[in-house]
Formats: sequence, C-alpha cells, structure tokens
Amino acid sequence: MALVAIVGRPNVGKSTLFNRLTESRDSIVHDESGVTRDRLYGDVEWNGRTFDLVDTGGLVPRSAERFEAAIREQVLLTVEEADVILFVVDTMTGITTVDEEVAALLRRAEQPVFVVANKADNATRALDAAEFYSLGFEHVFPLSSISGTGTGDFLDAVVEALPPTDMTPDDGAPRIAFIGRPNVGKSSLTNRLLGVTRSIVTEVPGTTRDSIDARLDHDGRSVVLVDTAGLRKKARIQENVEFYALLRTQRAIQSCDVAVLLVDAERGLETQDVKVLREAESMKKGLVIAVNKWDTVEKETNTARDWERTMRDKLGMMDYVPVVFLSALTGQRAPNVLDLALKVYAEREKRIPTPELNEAVEKAVGAQHPPTFRGTYVKIKYSNQVREAPPVFAFFCNHPEGIGESYRRYMENQLRKAFGFIGVPLTLSFKKK
Ligand code: GDP
Ligand code: GDP
Repeated sequence: MALVAIVGRPNVGKSTLFNRLTESRDSIVHDESGVTRDRLYGDVEWNGRTFDLVDTGGLVPRSAERFEAAIREQVLLTVEEADVILFVVDTMTGITTVDEEVAALLRRAEQPVFVVANKADNATRALDAAEFYSLGFEHVFPLSSISGTGTGDFLDAVVEALPPTDMTPDDGAPRIAFIGRPNVGKSSLTNRLLGVTRSIVTEVPGTTRDSIDARLDHDGRSVVLVDTAGLRKKARIQENVEFYALLRTQRAIQSCDVAVLLVDAERGLETQDVKVLREAESMKKGLVIAVNKWDTVEKETNTARDWERTMRDKLGMMDYVPVVFLSALTGQRAPNVLDLALKVYAEREKRIPTPELNEAVEKAVGAQHPPTFRGTYVKIKYSNQVREAPPVFAFFCNHPEGIGESYRRYMENQLRKAFGFIGVPLTLSFKKK
C-alpha cells in the first residue's frame, strides 16, 4: 500500500490533520476495541483507494534543544519512505524560517509534495494561503483540519498522485512478517531461513516503497517473508532508529497475514513487545511469538514451560498466541517458526458453518447467560461468521448494548474452545436483530 507522510514543524496541526483523515476509517477498523490511542499510523480510504498515512510529528519533540536536527531527520526519513509528502504549514502564522528550511530539504524530493495550508478556517485565511506558493511547490491546498473544510478536493489530489497499485502480482502465498525490537535477531532468522533454501529464493519488489519481499519454498509451499530490505537498511538511518523501526514495523504488519514477534530470550517479554503485539492484534493479523536466542538460556527440565507461563501472564487476553523457542544462530527449530506461522495462517482462513457456530453459541449461552439489560434478559437469537481472514462473527441480539466487555470475552473464549483459532484475533460484533 502506498505511504503518505505528514511533515512540518510543531503546532501547525499535523496530528489534527492525521486524525481528520483517518478518523472514519479507524472507527470502522477498531470499532470494538473502544481504546483511543495516540496513533501515528493509520489508513485512509478515499474514492475507492486506500493509502497508509503516517504522522511524523512524533519525531520532533516540542521543546527540544536539538529541534532543528530533529526536523531535518523527520524530513529525511519521510523522503526515504513516503510516496507522497504532505508538508503542513499554518495560515495563522504564515511562513517561518523553519518552514523555509523544511521546504529547502523537500524541494530535492522526487515524490510529489503537497503544501497543506492548514487552519484556513475562513475565506480570509484561505486567501492568505497563497503566500505559501513562494515555498516553491506546485500544489498548495488551503484547508481546515478542525472543521474538515477543503479536505475533499485535497484528498482527490492526493489519491491522484499515488503510484499505481497493482505493481506486485499477488498469488495468494502466505505473507509472514518478522517483527520485534532492534537486535532481537530478525535479520539473522531471515537469513537463516533463506540460507537453507538459497537456491530457490527469489527477491521480489515488495508492496511498499523500497521494500523487498523474499519468496521461499517451505515444504513445497510458497511463502513470502515481508520487507527483508527493512532489516538490512537500518544502518543508513543513524538517528531515530526507534522511530524508523516503528514505521517499518507498522508497514510490515500492515502488509502481512501473520506477524511473528521475536522476543529476546536474554531479556524476556518486555512492555514494548506487548505493545507491538497489540498493534498487530488491532490490525487483526495472525500472531506468533518466537523466543529467539534460546541457545543462550541455561535449560533445565521445565525451562520452556516456565518461560511460556510467565509470558502468558503478561499477555493477558492475548494468551491465544502460540509460542516457539528457537535459535537463529544455531538454526535450532528455526523452520518450526514457519510451520507455526502457516498453521496460524490456515486458522485465520477458516470459516465455521453457521449450524455449528449456533450450536456452540447456544451451549455457551446455556452455561452462562448474558447479563440483563434494563430488567430484561439479553438474548442472542442468531449468529454467523460474516467473513474470514480476519474472522468476524456477528451475534444478533434484542439488546446488544447490554453485552459488556466481560461477556464478549467469555464468548470469545468459548469460540476458541470450540473452534481453535490459535493465534488469530477474533472480532465479535453484537448487533440489533
Ligand atoms: P502538530 O504539533 O503539528 O501535530 O499540531 P496539532 O495537531 O497538535 O495542533 C496544534 C494546535 O493547532 C492545536 O491547538 C489544534 O487544535 C490547532 N489546530 C489544528 N488544526 C487547526 C485548524 O484547522 N484550525 C484551527 N483554528 N486550529 C487548528
Ligand atoms: P535484528 O536487528 O532484529 O535484525 O537483529 P540481528 O539479526 O541483526 O541480530 C542482532 C544480534 O543478535 C547479532 O549480533 C546476532 O548475531 C545476534 N543473534 C541473533 N540471533 C541469535 C541467536 O539465536 N542466538 C544468539 N546467541 N545470538 C543471536
């Protein structure tokens, strides 16, 4: 998917623009989670085209001493990664020296650059936006991120400038992404897996700019490892490796079917790991945890079992994610990670026939009734699986608003007991009959 990046100095309204452009879409994708987060990354759909949007504002601390350097990096990173660049400026303040510096860097970019003259809340300010043509870019769009005025024409132009979509043939091979902190062993594992079958590996251009997907044959099945270039390229970006890694990770998750989170056995499952896993869960991807560097752990009889237990405690509701212990260095169990990822892939594609589903739901309801709502029992009348990969289940009720989070979780656990879905985030949607 094409990447559109928002750049600009602090306070011009980048995050407001980001929220404005992603809100409708996000609320659909994340409807059941009810969690509001500071997202840097989201997708936008307009006129039937979808693109990824990133707000690089997170790169620039608002009151940093290294403010100018940070902006420079923000812009360079964007030029490296994006297909279209949105350069946000502020019609209330007019052009500042920082805007001019950003413009100087962006004028060298090959990609289309759109100047967003933000805070054009009224006609006067929209006219003032003309001054921004002096920054040297062809397109200036006055708009108001707060009210949404002007965003329609603007989005038309953005979508028009996106690169053509169908650049890579999609033959439906499972797409697997290795994600995790820097130095956890993603490149080592990739190389190990590719090395084993070097002769039949072909590198194909990935679905995102500068990404290279590797196709390999695993037990007679074609498998795609997503964005192997992202693993190699990190040395080129000195500063802000964290943000770069985050951006690259987000993109890899977005374009995969199954995300394999690598965890460092020397460090254990860390808060950051859980966060990345949640991110992948919220994008409804298949999930696997691979504990790498297992060669460094002194093992006794139950080491793996104890490890897994400790991890499951930290995972909470995500304890449906399967775990494999391996070593990219020695190669021990390295191919197993692909077996497991393919199993999760198959689970994610699964469709439960409606009669079987209703039988399981009836049984679950029999064992534990939904709560009452305003004095009447909530009844689930009928359910069906409305889609697969990712699976979504609809439950038709008299009072869907009476189904709370705890009952939703209960039902999810019952579905897992009945049908497996190992490593697969499930979406349960309770609707009015
Ligand atoms: P960022 O630092 O570039 O991400 O800027 P923010 O999105 O945090 O916005 C900075 C301030 O500008 C906030 O107080 C916003 O409410 C305000 N703002 C953003 N967009 C608009 C707009 O279209 N019109 C007006 N009047 N204010 C805006
Ligand atoms: P990436 O940043 O996630 O791609 O991590 P790398 O693949 O570059 O690995 C980072 C470091 O960890 C390198 O020094 C590797 O040799 C080392 N490493 C990777 N996998 C293993 C492993 O299974 N065992 C041990 N002991 N070291 C490993």
